[in-house]
Amino acid sequence: MTKSDFDMQARRMLKTAKLYCTESRLTILEVLAKAGKPLSQDQIARRSGKKHFDKVTIYRTLESLLRVGLVHKAFMEKRACHFELAHNCTEHQCHPHLTCSSCGDTHCLTQISLPMAKSPYQGFVIHRQQVRLEGLCPRCA
Ligand SMILES: [Zn+2]
Ligand SMILES: [Zn+2]
Ligand SMILES: [Zn+2]
Repeated sequence: MTKSDFDMQARRMLKTAKLYCTESRLTILEVLAKAGKPLSQDQIARRSGKKHFDKVTIYRTLESLLRVGLVHKAFMEKRACHFELAHNCTEHQCHPHLTCSSCGDTHCLTQISLPMAKSPYQGFVIHRQQVRLEGLCPRCA
């Protein structure tokens, strides 16, 4: 995809979610689309490449995207929440993520769908299923 394809996609997503197109929302959606994997707030800041894109702006922008379900939290790593576009997932289930134990990269395994855990189970109520896998990426295997 070219730069303008990402921009068009981001604008369409915001329109569907009935959110105004602001520069910060477009930038974050584009950064996440290009990354194709979950990113922490710091990684988003670095990849957005904007001087005046401060932490508070990123935080508030992510909040608005989380609220309408365009973005969701994929997992926690090194105490940092990692965000991704939610278009490959349902409200109750996220695709598995594999972290390569050799290079440390995390990949979205969007083609794998695992059976959802039964809820309620022995009094536990399950709201959302996220699975983390460990192994090797194709490059390291
Ligand atoms: Zn997901
Ligand atoms: Zn690897
Ligand atoms: Zn993912």
